[in-house]
Amino acid sequence: MKEQKIKRVLILGIDALEYDLVEQWNLQNLKQKEYGKIQLPLQPGQEPATVIIWPCFITGKEPEEMGYSTVHVFSKPLQFLINILSPALRKIFVDEEAENRTEKKQGKQSMLDKMAEIVKKFGLSHSPTRKDIHAQSLFDNKQIQSIHLHIPVYDEDGFPEYRSEIAKVIGEKAYQPILELAQKKEFRQRTREVFKYLKKDNWQLLMQYFYVLDGVQHIYYNNPKKIAEFYLMFDEFVKKVSKELGPQTLLLIVSDHGQKKGIHTPYGFYSMNKKMNLNNPKIIDFKHEIENILTK
Ligand SMILES: [Zn+2]
Repeated sequence: MKEQKIKRVLILGIDALEYDLVEQWNLQNLKQKEYGKIQLPLQPGQEPATVIIWPCFITGKEPEEMGYSTVHVFSKPLQFLINILSPALRKIFVDEEAENRTEKKQGKQSMLDKMAEIVKKFGLSHSPTRKDIHAQSLFDNKQIQSIHLHIPVYDEDGFPEYRSEIAKVIGEKAYQPILELAQKKEFRQRTREVFKYLKKDNWQLLMQYFYVLDGVQHIYYNNPKKIAEFYLMFDEFVKKVSKELGPQTLLLIVSDHGQKKGIHTPYGFYSMNKKMNLNNPKIIDFKHEIENILTK
């Protein structure tokens, strides 16, 4: 760690990158000098939600301390009511993201979607935004010159528009090619941005976020060949990025959860181009590590 002083950190946040698939397909570039699973801040039985886990990553805090622990943020009295609701109902309102469903779950859901929609309309709940994050993030650290691109919740444009279509499209084969185009477009645009910023020296910390793999694995949950195609795109991208990095840049690839058969798995993935001997780290550990590296 100490041989070469690290001056820059590049974080590639890749939503839903699954540890077991990286191993199974032996993706050499995604498997760097050090890699492994990440522990997530989850309640027993809770599925990891993108809008909770990423803000935990950038703030280094557990959900409660970060600001919220549910996928919708509720007004205080309603939150109280939800807390005393039956666990089953609570799960639907609190944990479930529209995209995180299989075909089977789809049918039962529409009624509840309508209820959630009404609650939203009355101003009793909203999707989390930066204002709901109550802890300091990596990007708020004034000692670090940072650039953040499309970070979920923190930036408004974390999720591309097609994300809202995913729940509708699962099982509707005719729409899949249209969404696939949107997914490839997101990949192209966001990879291009990384190369653009790599040439600049106006940052010590750069984080780019990719939503695409999450959506691909929801839509093509029973098509491993299609999923592999996208994993290979990322492996190839990391290969190209690695060639552009100097010896003083730490590359950290990180995911907020994995995914199997369309369901989020309860661990994340990390991979780094330098050995740091993090042993089964928690996702909230990285903020502190990065600040230590860049400010000591
Ligand atoms: Zn997902």
